[in-house]
Amino acid sequence: MAGQRLSIRSATTLTLIGVGTLFVLLSWSTSSYFRNAALEAQTKSLARIIEVASQQVLRDVEQLAMELGTALHTEDNLAQAYTRLQHDGNPQPLLKLLDDPLVNGFVGNSEIELVKLRLYTPELTFVTQSRAGLKGLPPALPAFLQAQASRRTGAERLKALGGLWLQGYLEILVNPTFSMAKVETITHMPVFISLASAPPPLARTTSQENDMLPITFTLEGDDGQAVYRLTGLEDVSQLNRDMYRAQVLVIASFISITFITLLLVLLMLDRGLFRPIRGMLLGIESYRNGELETTNRPSGLRELHTLGATFNDMMAQNRRDMRQLERYSNIDDLTNLANRRYFDKRLKEEWSRASRQQAPIAVLFIDIDYFKRFNDHYGHPNGDKCLQRIAVAIEGAARRESDIAARYGGEEFVIMLPDTELEGARRVAEKLQQAVGQLRIEHARSRIGPHVTLSIGIAATRAQFPESPDQLLAMADRALYQAKARGRNCTEAIVEEDD
Ligand code: GH3
Ligand code: MG
Ligand code: MG
Repeated sequence: MAGQRLSIRSATTLTLIGVGTLFVLLSWSTSSYFRNAALEAQTKSLARIIEVASQQVLRDVEQLAMELGTALHTEDNLAQAYTRLQHDGNPQPLLKLLDDPLVNGFVGNSEIELVKLRLYTPELTFVTQSRAGLKGLPPALPAFLQAQASRRTGAERLKALGGLWLQGYLEILVNPTFSMAKVETITHMPVFISLASAPPPLARTTSQENDMLPITFTLEGDDGQAVYRLTGLEDVSQLNRDMYRAQVLVIASFISITFITLLLVLLMLDRGLFRPIRGMLLGIESYRNGELETTNRPSGLRELHTLGATFNDMMAQNRRDMRQLERYSNIDDLTNLANRRYFDKRLKEEWSRASRQQAPIAVLFIDIDYFKRFNDHYGHPNGDKCLQRIAVAIEGAARRESDIAARYGGEEFVIMLPDTELEGARRVAEKLQQAVGQLRIEHARSRIGPHVTLSIGIAATRAQFPESPDQLLAMADRALYQAKARGRNCTEAIVEEDD
């Protein structure tokens, strides 16, 4: 279960990678947005340039048309021809005059393409038109011009139509497409002219590869309707290159900043968080596996450092408590000697070692003589005090490091003497008897003398080894029984079982 869970390190790394990726995507879309905005701005300003250029061209056309009209009117040619038509009904001079610019050309011929010349009365009634030029035009002013003119009269009407006034009106029709080509020259870019009603010649694209940016401007007629569409093509390869470079630079810096931040954060977290936590987990695990001496080196961020130090303190306190408990569980409350539990455990261990190494081992079973009577006479508390003093004497008799003296129960004590033969055990027993004799603990009810005495049974090994530590202890018990039987205040020994 714990193995399937995400570690702090993995979770942090994944989060940071996620955030980094998000930043890179953001920077990508932001730079794309800026690129589009720049192209948009470029398009707008270029459209304005086309607009200005086309208006300039239109003004030039108007100017040239005006000049053409003025030229036709030179020396009242047009007025005279018109008068003759009215008086004689002869249209020839007038038609010849109107055909002339279309057939023979005029000043400004190369800049405008003349399509038709038409004449109207001051009331805007169609009079006649050039035979040359566009055929099939309806014999009337275009509706929007007529509407524009009908609202005014005289010189005002002239202004409304923006034309020449003689005794009537001269309508000069030119092909705007021809003149509009000049926009190309002014704007220094290829310009396509099409009718506004036709589909756009070039779709607007923003793709990187497309280095030609189409810019559209719509030209409106006097009626406010879109008539022509001018589409310029601007070479934006340099802009594209610059934009692309900026985009790459931004994303590269974002990636490197993210990467460096990721590394730094991971490094910091590794030192301050991951490693201390791992160390602490290892410590706790080895403690759980029974290695009570485990300590961990406090490290990392302040809280973790404190946690590590607290953990160590806790473990130390635990160890102290455990040792104390262990001691309590092995010690006899009254005498502070080892208790029977501890003695049995140690005897088993020592007996195993001794039997393995064929080393001698001896056990003394010690019993206070007539102790029931002592209790009955002096009271239980004094009996306890006596037990305590005897215990001190017993401890003093078993001086070697490996010797173990214990209270076996009631007024019975035992001493285990590893690596000790019968002679050594006897010396210890004698020493103990002497020591107790010197204590001179008063015992008014003893049948032996005025002081407390001990009976001791010794069990010692020789070549033959008893089968178990219990058997060794049983031998000592039997020897003690023999000592009691012999009259007490003495020591008996059994070395080998006779069976
Ligand atoms: P013997 O010489 O045959 O050993 O006689 P004894 O009276 O010493 O032996 P017995 O087994 O009849 O009596 C042992 C007495 O030890 C009984 C009890 O009053 C006393 N005793 C056992 N444990 C304690 C103890 O913890 N405190 C005190 N004060 N007396 C105890
Ligand atoms: Mg007894
Ligand atoms: Mg006794």
